[in-house]
Amino acid sequence: MNSRLPLIAGNWKMFKTGPEAAAAARELAREVAGAQAVEVMIAPPFTALEAVHAALQGSAIALGAQNTHWEDSGAFTGEIAPPMLKAAGCRFVIIGHSERRQLFGEDDRGVNRKVHAVRRHGMVPVVCVGETEAQRDAGQTFSVLDKQLRLGLENIALGNPLDVVVAYEPVWAIGTGKTASDHQAQEVHDRIRRLLAELLGADLAAGVRILYGGSVKPGNVAGLMAMPDIDGALVGGASLDPQTFARIMRFRS
Ligand code: PEP
Repeated sequence: MNSRLPLIAGNWKMFKTGPEAAAAARELAREVAGAQAVEVMIAPPFTALEAVHAALQGSAIALGAQNTHWEDSGAFTGEIAPPMLKAAGCRFVIIGHSERRQLFGEDDRGVNRKVHAVRRHGMVPVVCVGETEAQRDAGQTFSVLDKQLRLGLENIALGNPLDVVVAYEPVWAIGTGKTASDHQAQEVHDRIRRLLAELLGADLAAGVRILYGGSVKPGNVAGLMAMPDIDGALVGGASLDPQTFARIMRFRS
């Protein structure tokens, strides 16, 4: 057991209107009281951020966004800037989710610009990395992750290990029902922590939270969380139903 406070994060993707998201957040705020020694974050769509922020007042659940632009303002139609997320109450911002990389052409350079922008505004980037099934089959998992992390975290200076979160999300496990086995995931998390030690120094790397994501459910979360380098979960589909997500955040019971 390590001393890192687990983070259970829900990525609501493009689901829930403002009122629907606020109702789910209120239900989760009631449930979180039963979850011990765990930090919980939910990332609703942009249009629901303010309603969810209001619904979470007085609760320990943190608010996150699913993406950001890297500039503070400008002529970027359809984009959202970090100061807007900060003003809406966000503490975390998910960066480089595989859906953004695969469907919207995001690359490691863009991820790096966003990570810097989020840090500049005092929020915590949740930097997503992960290999595709073809890359895993070709034995490229570690080289893919190396590149994603080296470029994604380039020139990031951290004062505190809690200022960044890494989420390992094998692309083949997202929304597919296939989960990496506990040991498969641990092997990669161990590798990521070694790489973080090289990039950030061993002391900081020891405190950075590395989440696993990919079809996490109430039935598999405890096994994953028992691994020494798995410090939490980034949950997509199973975070949409508050009662299911609550069972995940109570993974110890
Ligand atoms: C995700 O979207 O980050 C994710 C892990 O999705 P799911 O839990 O549905 O696989």
